[in-house]
Amino acid sequence: MDDIFGRQQSILIADVQVDGRFVDIFVEENGIIGAAGVGIRREYKGEADLIIDGNGAIALPGFVNTHTHAAMSLLRGYADDMILQDWLSQKIWPLEAHLTPGDIYWGTRLACLEMIKSGTVAFNDMYFMMEEAARAALEAGIRATLSYGFIDLSGPEKREAECKATENLVRHIRSLDDPRIKAAVGPHAIYTVSPEGLRWCAEFAAAEKIGIHIHLSETEKEVNDCIARHGKRPAVHLDECGILTPRTVAAHCCWLSLEECNLLGKRGVSASHNPSSNMKLATNRAMPYHWLLQAGANVCLGTDGCASNNNLDMFEEAKTAALLQKFSWNNPTLLPAHEALAMATVNGAKGLGLATGTLAVGKPADIILVNTHAACNTPLHNATSNLVYSCSGGAVETTICDGRVLMLDREVPGEEQILSGAARAAQELVRRAQSA
Ligand SMILES: [Zn+2]
Repeated sequence: MDDIFGRQQSILIADVQVDGRFVDIFVEENGIIGAAGVGIRREYKGEADLIIDGNGAIALPGFVNTHTHAAMSLLRGYADDMILQDWLSQKIWPLEAHLTPGDIYWGTRLACLEMIKSGTVAFNDMYFMMEEAARAALEAGIRATLSYGFIDLSGPEKREAECKATENLVRHIRSLDDPRIKAAVGPHAIYTVSPEGLRWCAEFAAAEKIGIHIHLSETEKEVNDCIARHGKRPAVHLDECGILTPRTVAAHCCWLSLEECNLLGKRGVSASHNPSSNMKLATNRAMPYHWLLQAGANVCLGTDGCASNNNLDMFEEAKTAALLQKFSWNNPTLLPAHEALAMATVNGAKGLGLATGTLAVGKPADIILVNTHAACNTPLHNATSNLVYSCSGGAVETTICDGRVLMLDREVPGEEQILSGAARAAQELVRRAQSA
């Protein structure tokens, strides 16, 4: 049974619902959707190496999580309900100072397991020791865009080290030669990266033709400090440093002005909405989704790290996004379910430059099957509504990425070892930090 997982093979997925129609999907051995339609199983049954009985499940493109710090899964539940600055300086940073490469590996393995089990097939990650994150993502079989968190405010020497770390990661990921693992440049934020550092990141990303992953205007303090230091708002400052491009994903974007939203739209930037993290840390303002939409910016969805969410469930995030937008801007028609679902799928794929995000012939087979014989999908008046407002990641039965089966009927190979390895790493990490 185990030999069906993770390998290249042709797959016939029979009897699934796509946009309200019962169809079959045929995935070619090269991982591309070869055919989809009513009753095609008769034609492809003999050809398929593997036949999956969809049993009426909803087939969806797998989710794309556009802002994570995957290895922070080890910090899940370690510190909650605190003021952002205290939370970071008293709890998160002291623990992070003791992270080892092994911790990054196990934390990312755990995050990938959680993502696969809740229907995510790609994530945009920024953290440290990312060579270990690449190893974990590669073993998990999921798509990852990985950036080293570039922080250079302590001076030119640190900047040089950060440039080197960024270059090394890009070279390492190129050497892996797997189209599922991509590199990006990760200037952490305007308050942790100098203008010189930002300019270097922009130029390096352009030269390498890779993405940029940055935090933008998460808090009001960040905006006020930027105006005091640079005499301009954060997005304007980033634009002058060359950071705002169609390859850029900006996380949070809570405190953008209307003019900054227009600037993001003009530059083709993707804005990653992280509603759970924003609510938990009380950023006190929701991303101005309606302004970004008007401005033509690509708005996608992310969970942020597990220390501030505390899970990686994109179903939950889509619902939270829709609710937060309605509540914050006093408009129940804002961010309807179909837009929330697009944010989690096709918009996220666009943000990361992936060809995935839709179920169409000729596209990579990044497919999840959602159980329709579950309480959350009964009755099924409107699949889109149930997916966003009623389901959680637990309703996902099967996850396929790049034509490879990563989960079938909720089984992921190696789950027990990943859980015990990650639990042990987390325990050891806290022990090291407390005895220091
Ligand atoms: Zn973040």
